Amino acid sequence: MKKIAVFCGSKEGATPVYREAAERLGKELAKRGLTLVYGGSRVGTMGMLADSVLAHGGQAIGVLPTFLEEREIAHPNLTELILVESMHERKAKMTELADGFIALPGGPGTMEELFEVFTWAQLGLHEKPCGILNVGGYYDALEALFDGMQTQGFMAKEHGEIALFDTDAARLLERFATYQAPALKTYLTKDQT
Ligand code: AMP
Repeated sequence: MKKIAVFCGSKEGATPVYREAAERLGKELAKRGLTLVYGGSRVGTMGMLADSVLAHGGQAIGVLPTFLEEREIAHPNLTELILVESMHERKAKMTELADGFIALPGGPGTMEELFEVFTWAQLGLHEKPCGILNVGGYYDALEALFDGMQTQGFMAKEHGEIALFDTDAARLLERFATYQAPALKTYLTKDQT
C-alpha cells in the first residue's frame, strides 16, 4: 500500500475536533510513508490534512478540476497538483492512483466520493479498503444507516463489511494493511436480470 485517497470537506467544521482529526491523519500517513491523494485544495479540512502531511515530511498529490481552481483555491506547496477537466475525471484519477480510501468528516461532496468507491467495491470493481474516520461521533448516523440497510434487506451483510468505521486514524491504517476484500457473491443472479 503506497497511496491513500482521503475525501474531506471544503469547510472546516464547527468544532476543533475536525481540525485535530485531519492533522492526526496527516501525521499518520506521513509517518507510514503513505502518499496522500486528495482534492488539491488549501481550504477546509482538505487544506488542514495536506498541511499536516507536508509538515510531517510526507507527500501530497492534489487532483483539482480547473473550474474549481478559484473556488477551492489550489494548495500552493503540494508534491504534485494534477489539473483535470471535470468532477468525474477527478474521482477517476483519485481512484486510479489510490490503494485505499478514507472519508474524514465532510459534506455532500465527501459523501458523493465515499459512496462511489463504496458501491464500486460492492460491485467487485476494486478490492481496495474503504475507511470512514468517525471522529466526534460525526458518522454515527451513517453507521446506523448502514446497519439499517442490512437489517431492512437493502444491503448484503458481506457488503456491510466493506465499510471500515473507526474512531482512530492509526488503527484504521493498521486495518488497511491487513484488509482482505470479502468474497462477494455474484451481484445479480440470472433470475434478477
Ligand atoms: P464537501 O464535502 O461538500 O465540502 O465537498 C468536498 C469535496 O468534494 C470538494 O472538493 C468538492 O468539490 C468535491 N466534490 C463535490 N461533489 C463532487 C463530485 N460529484 N465529484 C467529485 N468531487 C466532488
